[in-house]
Amino acid sequence: MPQPSPSQRSGDPIRSIVIVGGGTAGWVAAALLAKRLERQDIMITVVESSAIGTVGVGEATTPAIRDYFRAAELDEFAVMKAANATIKLGIRFDGWTGEDSSFFHPFGLYGVASNGVAFHHYWLKLRAAGDRRPIGDYCLATQLAAANRFMPPHRPAPDYAFFDWAVHFDAALFARHLASVARARGVRHVDARMRRAIRDETTGLITAIDTEEAGTIGADLFVDCTGFRSLLLGQSLEEPYVEWTDLLPCDRAVAMPCAHGGPLTPYTQAIAMPAGWRWRIPLQHRVGNGYVYSSRHLSDDEAVAALAGRLEGERLGEPNLIRFVTGRRRRFWTGNCVALGLAAGFLEPLESTSITLIFSGIERLLHLFPDRSFDPALAEDYNRITALEYERVRDFLLLHYWGARREEPLWRAMRDVELPEKLAHKVRMFIRRGRMVRYEWDAFQDPSWLSMFAGLDLLPERWDPLADYFPIEEVTGALSRIRDQIALGLKSSGSHEAFVERNFRADNASSGSR
Ligand SMILES: Cc1cc2nc3c(=O)[nH]c(=O)nc-3n(C[C@H](O)[C@H](O)[C@H](O)COP(=O)(O)OP(=O)(O)OC[C@H]3O[C@@H](n4cnc5c(N)ncnc54)[C@H](O)[C@@H]3O)c2cc1C
Repeated sequence: MPQPSPSQRSGDPIRSIVIVGGGTAGWVAAALLAKRLERQDIMITVVESSAIGTVGVGEATTPAIRDYFRAAELDEFAVMKAANATIKLGIRFDGWTGEDSSFFHPFGLYGVASNGVAFHHYWLKLRAAGDRRPIGDYCLATQLAAANRFMPPHRPAPDYAFFDWAVHFDAALFARHLASVARARGVRHVDARMRRAIRDETTGLITAIDTEEAGTIGADLFVDCTGFRSLLLGQSLEEPYVEWTDLLPCDRAVAMPCAHGGPLTPYTQAIAMPAGWRWRIPLQHRVGNGYVYSSRHLSDDEAVAALAGRLEGERLGEPNLIRFVTGRRRRFWTGNCVALGLAAGFLEPLESTSITLIFSGIERLLHLFPDRSFDPALAEDYNRITALEYERVRDFLLLHYWGARREEPLWRAMRDVELPEKLAHKVRMFIRRGRMVRYEWDAFQDPSWLSMFAGLDLLPERWDPLADYFPIEEVTGALSRIRDQIALGLKSSGSHEAFVERNFRADNASSGSR
């Protein structure tokens, strides 16, 4: 094997990073990089233009957001107070298998595995014997959500009581809070509009960005957080975009906040609509609403009217219309430029995954942190893993559409979509034998897939034969005891609203009436 030359062995360390863009991606990156690189004496600069707005949405998360809080050493409840946040125990899907249907995707587990056999096989066995109770009856997180209750999870806990929680927050307030944290950690903030990137003719690396108000700003490493414009990776470095519109056809959204019209629910709602679906995200001071739709099946005006007609309280802002193309950059890291957030790619917010992908991108960048030789092997590994991660999320979202049972043209067309091979195999193995196929870098674990399979009624024809060694009476008794334990757990919880009030009620949270 060839030995590395001395210069290859000890490349010059990175001394400066410029993050272009000050939306959620830019500030999430800045606050975390400033903490993790504080001993390396690296100058971090965020360049953003206050004349160019942020996308203005992105208010629901996955539990990974709390890993981010820990990694960035942020005080969780201080962030939640600053961003008018509420608790998210999962997502309630309404109308996906018929107008009155509803099921829940919890951030939690179901039942208890027994003798090496996953819980859902016992549940299926009982179902075949005539007990039609939904699988959510065996999950404390689902039951807490249904009752608008919350309590911090206990550890250790049996599977049925094992859950995690995520956060809903005001995206603008969240970014503002992170900006103040990052600045306090020494991050330089420049308000200037980038005109173009300047590149070294020999290496092709970016050496600086040219801005309208602040001249040229140089750095060793550039992080592109410029949103859909993807100014560095997409425009300057001309990295192609891989489109997935044939698999996920929605290409527009309209967002519209309103006042509260009911209790503070600890979950996001994803409500199926004739040409897509709409979200409902409860914050302390208002409710975020949006309709994600396919422009081939609905006009913008119709989407605005459909959403406006379904608001639960007084409208609190003008409609924010957003166009997008589902997909990703072919490479996320090339040379000395890494893209995060919308500049890297976009998968619609059906499972609130974008901010999660931003966080995992930064973690991966830190794990593969380069020196100034920018060894292409690091970028290659980053790109390989990130592409897999995006594909797994894409497939999870696709399952939602493919498995839904509605009769409008969009939904009928989605039933005929040819599934990518990995997803097709996963679906086949579950429907035939109840087996969960797992893939590398899937952000969603078995219980998440199970909640979708069960919720969409994509149930196996058979269950694990090992579950048949137990007589039905024994299974009936065991499942009934789990339900009793969950009922006890519910009794020891309190209302979600009281938890918010006690722990992180924002000073300005009363502006949206409830
Ligand atoms: C409809 C919709 C719903 C979504 N819902 C969710 C959700 O529920 N959960 C979730 O996790 N994610 C969601 N997302 C994704 C989420 O909004 C984004 O991932 C997140 O906000 C990050 O955006 P960003 O920072 O990459 O881009 P942006 O918010 O667009 O920020 C871009 C930044 O770049 C700056 N900029 C642009 N051009 C220049 C220039 N020339 N010079 C200087 N600065 C410049 C802008 O000023 C701005 O600061 C949603 C996205 C959409 C479209």
